[in-house]
Amino acid sequence: MNDEGGRLVVIIGGGPAGLMAAEVLIQNGVRVDLYDAMPSVGRKLLRAGKGGLNLTHSESHELFLSRYGTRRAQVEPLLNAFGPEALRDWARGLGIDTFVGTSGRVFPIGMKSTPLLRAWLKRLRETGVNFHVRHAWQGWDKDGALSFSTPKGMVSVHADAVVLALGGGSWPQLGSTGAWVPLFEQRGVPVAPLRPSNCGFDVGWSEHFRARFSGHPLKSVVVSFTDSEGVTHCKQGDVIVTATGVEGSPIYALSALLRDTIEAKGPVVIHLDLTPDKELQPLIKKLSQPRGTRSMANHLRRQAGIEGVKAGLLRELVPAKEFADPALLGAAIKSLPLKLIATRPLNEAISSAGGIVFEALDEHLMIRSLPGVFCAGEMLDWEAPTGGYLLTACFASGRAAGLGALAWIKGEGRTS
Ligand SMILES: Cc1cc2nc3c(=O)[nH]c(=O)nc-3n(C[C@H](O)[C@H](O)[C@H](O)COP(=O)(O)OP(=O)(O)OC[C@H]3O[C@@H](n4cnc5c(N)ncnc54)[C@H](O)[C@@H]3O)c2cc1C
Repeated sequence: MNDEGGRLVVIIGGGPAGLMAAEVLIQNGVRVDLYDAMPSVGRKLLRAGKGGLNLTHSESHELFLSRYGTRRAQVEPLLNAFGPEALRDWARGLGIDTFVGTSGRVFPIGMKSTPLLRAWLKRLRETGVNFHVRHAWQGWDKDGALSFSTPKGMVSVHADAVVLALGGGSWPQLGSTGAWVPLFEQRGVPVAPLRPSNCGFDVGWSEHFRARFSGHPLKSVVVSFTDSEGVTHCKQGDVIVTATGVEGSPIYALSALLRDTIEAKGPVVIHLDLTPDKELQPLIKKLSQPRGTRSMANHLRRQAGIEGVKAGLLRELVPAKEFADPALLGAAIKSLPLKLIATRPLNEAISSAGGIVFEALDEHLMIRSLPGVFCAGEMLDWEAPTGGYLLTACFASGRAAGLGALAWIKGEGRTS
């Protein structure tokens, strides 16, 4: 242990960002106490592993950086210091090898987060991080100490520096509730409102379609949306029909744009290509073949490969008389208009947009107006699509905030 051993840094929030901050501090000989409101840490990370933990992405650094959109300039230095390769090396250091999937996404072998989290927590405990669960941070008390509500009552904690990594506001049942927003606003720290990101949208299905197809994937369709500048954005993948509308990776990838457009102008229309592997004219030709006594459902299946939920969606959205016209039917299959009437709420979204704005932070992620208070992870005002970009930026910002707190305690005194 080096000469920082006497100093205490408190981390609040035991997600990927907070745990990473704890790691860099403990490795540098600082005393680290980590607090979390939940009975155990890393719940969202564990949940993220259920469908396959997409840790990061293997695409070029330039493309990777572009995923952070308008916040690229702020996220870039964090990722230059700890990017996708560094993250994969770090996982390897925990005994977790990773692989690149067909889409270029990077997963741990075995796909789950449990082995990674277990190995990581073991290492953190062994190196001396003290965990305090069931401690919900409530802000600062009148003496400037950190104030927690616990099953045994209120507890006050003094620290030399604090790293807050409280997450966004999605999936609040996993711990990140966004309840911290007013705590900062009361102290004059600007927070952009938390909004759903990587989220679904409402369509308003008929009762028949909802009951029959809710939960079914529209496999490998192309979703396109033309923005107000006339630029068409296309994403291919599986769109999932939900009880109220649609979700799934191509929808998530367009969700920031769709959400912002709905917010500004009301409902939007996206188009679905249900058969991206078929050209329009040959498709119309096939649909024009006499169908004889075959049902329309059989005809669609044989001539266009359309069945199940895709056929159901055509029935839901295309007027019956257009089914009789191969040119109109073909056009609908290749470019089916779907009106999205509303964005699903934040608590259902994969992640949050909004949070503490970067302009309130210095280059070490310290809140300028609250010296010694650092922030990291999803509670910062950036957003990115799914694809491993969320976790990578959470790990990278957690590391940066931890190093920032380290530099702070080396050069400065107590904050409270
Ligand atoms: C279903 C799902 C699947 C996902 N899959 C992926 C994926 O495959 N790849 C990817 O990159 N991203 C994925 N994500 C997103 C990713 O999990 C999050 O972006 C990431 O966990 C955010 O990390 P964080 O450390 O900022 O916050 P969190 O992981 O949300 O952790 C915040 C912690 O702070 C604690 N906390 C909050 N408020 C308080 C308080 N007042 N006092 C004390 N503790 C508090 C919480 O209990 C929690 O433990 C997924 C998300 C979901 C919901």
